[in-house]
Amino acid sequence: MTRQDLLSVVQDFESPVYVYNASKIEAQYKRLNNAFKKVKKVKIHYAVKALSNISVLKLLRSLGSGMDTVSIQEVRMALEAGVAPEDIIFTPNGVSMEEIERAAGLGVQINIDNLSFLEQFGTKYPEIPVCIRINPHVMAGGNTNISVGHIDSKFGISIHQMPHIKRIVENTNMTINGIHMHTGSDILDIDVFLYASEILFRSAMHFDNLEFIDFGSGFKVPYKEGDIETNIEEFGEKLSERFNAFCKTYGKELTLAFEPGKFLVSEAGKFLVNVNVIKQTTSTVFAQVDSGFNHFIRPMLYGSQHTIENISNPKGRERFYSVVGYICETDTFANNRRIAEIREGDVLAFGNAGAYCFTMASNYNSRYRPAEVLWHKGKAHLIRKRETFEDIIRNQVPVEL
Ligand SMILES: *Cc1c(COP(=O)(O)O)cnc(C)c1O
Repeated sequence: MTRQDLLSVVQDFESPVYVYNASKIEAQYKRLNNAFKKVKKVKIHYAVKALSNISVLKLLRSLGSGMDTVSIQEVRMALEAGVAPEDIIFTPNGVSMEEIERAAGLGVQINIDNLSFLEQFGTKYPEIPVCIRINPHVMAGGNTNISVGHIDSKFGISIHQMPHIKRIVENTNMTINGIHMHTGSDILDIDVFLYASEILFRSAMHFDNLEFIDFGSGFKVPYKEGDIETNIEEFGEKLSERFNAFCKTYGKELTLAFEPGKFLVSEAGKFLVNVNVIKQTTSTVFAQVDSGFNHFIRPMLYGSQHTIENISNPKGRERFYSVVGYICETDTFANNRRIAEIREGDVLAFGNAGAYCFTMASNYNSRYRPAEVLWHKGKAHLIRKRETFEDIIRNQVPVEL
């Protein structure tokens, strides 16, 4: 998408607005698939929570993707997008047994991540095969906010509890058809991931009826020039070889599964905002935009550094700005960032706005959640309308006082 394309989206749909470039999503999907071309059976389940617009799900489904879901609503969303139940995996954490039963009733693959529910589910439905989520206790990435495989993590059944798992499986006569790990976002080091994979392979040998091994996700994408990025090609080469060797040892051609969110959609997204005010204080120049952490919380929640481009004045002389929002809260998108001269009324584009951006938006300050646009084959398609005042008060029940 060119700057002109982005500006035309703001013109047609106003700001703030999220735009997703379909061809980038497609390229990422193909790149990941291609990295594992030496493995016979590969299945990519897109992590719906990253960006759950049904049109995006449909796009990914059309590429052959399955869906990774964490709530019954995401399961329903994937079904709504036309994804077959057998292409959906349900990997919840801490949800009720009732929710798991509902998902199983819809025919999706269940992934269980605690011993208590494994036993309850196996006792009640020994005929439904389940996948188990293993915690290999491996730290991938340095940020404890987003590394979920380490010892204190709430996710998965500890690898050290394998004897308990086996006892439950034997007692209930249930079938384990898959084994799963998700060590968290941001794989910086391929070797760390491969190390965790070895642990997964070892635990896989405890089960005779596996159909797939799910390696989760955690692929790192670049946020700015020079950022470290998971070398998918090298990673694919190494893991494919190891996976194929494992299948020989295991005696069966298993499916290699992944569930990337960020890798598929992060870079495809741009968040476009309008600059309301330029405010010069004694030490800083603030550019205040028509948004805040109600629409785009990653910079404040995770300290993520998203690129910011002034697409209205790309050739302007570069100056330092603090880009902040319009809500009554400290909502700093970037501090002292070099950006082409910003004037009131200019449009700024945030990069990497595809994953965990719109899906984390709220109505804080009674603002509307933004519109979403899919840029597909050179055309803008509105895939979610901006909210209205009616949306905000819809579920309020005024009481007569
Ligand atoms: C969130 C999540 C993913 C996706 O993680 P990304 O970092 O976006 O690729 C995959 N699997 C599970 C179980 C998740 O919870």
